[in-house]
Amino acid sequence: MGLMDGKIALVFGLANKNSIAWGIIQKLHEEGATILLSYAGEVMEKRVFPLAQEIGVDFVESADVSKDEDLDKIFDKVKERYGRLDVLVHSVAYANREDLDGRFIDISREGFKLALDISAYSLIAMAKRAEPLMTEGGSIISLTYYAAEKVMPKYHVMAIAKASLEMITRYLANDMGPKGIRVNAISAGPIKTLAAAGVPGIRTMLKYSEKTAPLRRLVSQIEVGKTALWLASDLSSAVTGEVVHVDAGFNVLGLTATAEDLAEMG
Ligand code: NAD
Repeated sequence: MGLMDGKIALVFGLANKNSIAWGIIQKLHEEGATILLSYAGEVMEKRVFPLAQEIGVDFVESADVSKDEDLDKIFDKVKERYGRLDVLVHSVAYANREDLDGRFIDISREGFKLALDISAYSLIAMAKRAEPLMTEGGSIISLTYYAAEKVMPKYHVMAIAKASLEMITRYLANDMGPKGIRVNAISAGPIKTLAAAGVPGIRTMLKYSEKTAPLRRLVSQIEVGKTALWLASDLSSAVTGEVVHVDAGFNVLGLTATAEDLAEMG
């Protein structure tokens, strides 16, 4: 008996085996969920198809989440084949590199629109299409980062997108709660992935988090997957509108430098 037996989970955002989505998929699959995959497009096919095969997934559909027609196509196919949906995972983000570097004040209007559309609005667009399929209630999960709450160097436009995603999580939770649909976000600590490689400050973020987080280590994709499993399953049945930190405790920190550190800095 698995925690997710009989459940259908649609996951957006698998790029390769380093993707956080892959950690989530593995945990949901282990517990018996039927996994449906959507990936970004042709360039991703080479990596996504073998992973899908590894766990026997035969629903693998390409979609650009900024295109309504692509989302319509995916959700129509889910309806056609399964008639319902229990879990939706949004593990998608994108920003132009120039809007993550340089000065925050130089973020372009176009770059802002693009990042917010792909990384935040898409959650609303997906939730709207998932709602009629979540006939027996459901769980919607997205991925965020602590830069939504506190200023982080070089996270710039993505910090604004993540802050928006977190508020969207709360509004969707309130909107969809009466239908038994729960909406939560996981705030993951930094992990080496394709998306992370595009963040100019990622090496510093990884090193600083590892050295200072209460657990004095980084977190893995599988650990994020375990929390996603909890949020997807009945174990979290009264939890909605939450941002759950899976970051080795980093978010509880204030000042981390000691007197000795300051003396060293001069
Ligand atoms: P990843 O590169 O493996 O995943 C990002 C995914 O977004 C990719 O599959 C990519 O194809 C997809 N994507 C981008 N634009 C798209 C579009 N227009 N349409 C459809 N798909 C699109 O990297 P990841 O780190 O696993 O990222 C997954 C999520 O986790 C993102 O929301 C990211 O911001 C978040 N996150 C990552 C970290 C980290 O340090 N890696 C930390 C906290 C949160």
